[in-house]
Amino acid sequence: MNIFFYIILLALLLEYSLGLLSSLLNLKALKLKPPAELEGIYPEDEYRKSQQYTRTNTRFALISGTFSLLVLLAFWFSGGFNFLDQFVRSFGFGPIVNGLLYIGILSVAYMLITLPFSIYATFVIEERFGFNRVTPRTFILDRVKGFMLAILLGMPLLAGILAIFEYGGAYAWLYCWAAVTVFMLIVQYIAPTWIMPLFNKFTPLEDGKLREAIFEVARKADFPLKNVFVMDGSKRSGKSNAFFTGMGRNKRIALFDTLIEKHTVPELVAVLAHEIGHYKKKHISQGIVISILHMGLLFFLLSLFISSSGLHEAFFMSQQSVYTGLVFFGLLYTPVEMVLSVIINMLSRKNEYAADRFAVETTGEPQSMADALKKLAAGNLSNLTPHPFYVFLNYSHPPVVERVRAIFKG
Ligand SMILES: [Zn+2]
Repeated sequence: MNIFFYIILLALLLEYSLGLLSSLLNLKALKLKPPAELEGIYPEDEYRKSQQYTRTNTRFALISGTFSLLVLLAFWFSGGFNFLDQFVRSFGFGPIVNGLLYIGILSVAYMLITLPFSIYATFVIEERFGFNRVTPRTFILDRVKGFMLAILLGMPLLAGILAIFEYGGAYAWLYCWAAVTVFMLIVQYIAPTWIMPLFNKFTPLEDGKLREAIFEVARKADFPLKNVFVMDGSKRSGKSNAFFTGMGRNKRIALFDTLIEKHTVPELVAVLAHEIGHYKKKHISQGIVISILHMGLLFFLLSLFISSSGLHEAFFMSQQSVYTGLVFFGLLYTPVEMVLSVIINMLSRKNEYAADRFAVETTGEPQSMADALKKLAAGNLSNLTPHPFYVFLNYSHPPVVERVRAIFKG
């Protein structure tokens, strides 16, 4: 039992307790009536259903979170990390293959352990609340495709990182940072054309009033819009959304088919103007710069601890290696990650207000933006009264009532 042991254990327990506390506060914050600004967005029984949805999801997250933590602690305290390492080493491969096997086995085991939870979330919870459109076939295909991507993209990346730390000397973290940055930019660039179509169909929005209105607002915003895509979100869920992906000439805006079904043309134009706002206000490039800097910090800290014998002792290891150092550092990083995610969420919520403001200024229609947000919240059974502490920890978007307030405050 050394200092690393206690730091990691405390961090895991702290993360868990904060999650538990914020969830309980969130449940207590459920109100009998929606906030005045949002009056009438749900019929009364729909409002009750939205609260039931929050309760069910919160309970489910607590159960699955408790289970994951207990499995991790049991594996750790029983010497599982060392046992798996001895097993992997018994094949007599070199350090890189050992690392791929070690991390591969851990990842597959994690996937299998959490599989019943994803099945339950999709086919029981989402089903009960009328959102689920996933067929067992799609569910299985999604898993298979995800696995193939992990093999095709994740494995070479991991092998590269392990090799650089194994043979790269004192500046390994810098080489890793450069390599992963290039890798990430390439993936971002090819995602809209190569990766996302593996999971969804993207069709160009057909000619008509909506398309005309959208190109009109893009012109007003001075945004070089080439095409808008409709994504078959209805393949998996009745929930709706819109988003911006890709970079440079490969950037595109996608609207879920479920969004187009439920919203009026002015509302859709407002949503689109909001997405353009993210681009014009440089939130997209900001996000990329932040993740590059984050990666630099991550690899620098990793280089300090990856070959620490104390860190290995904390996991009862009999031999030390780069790949186990990588795994244990991931756990040691928990508190840093927690703090960073709070900061990044804060920034993201600020950006959402800015994008809303941009949309209102561009379209000149605050009511359409507010209506779109309300309809989205109602359609997705969003929690209208989340507790501020829960928002602080978890929300990347401000609660809808605050966005509506901000829109009319101007
Ligand atoms: Zn946004």
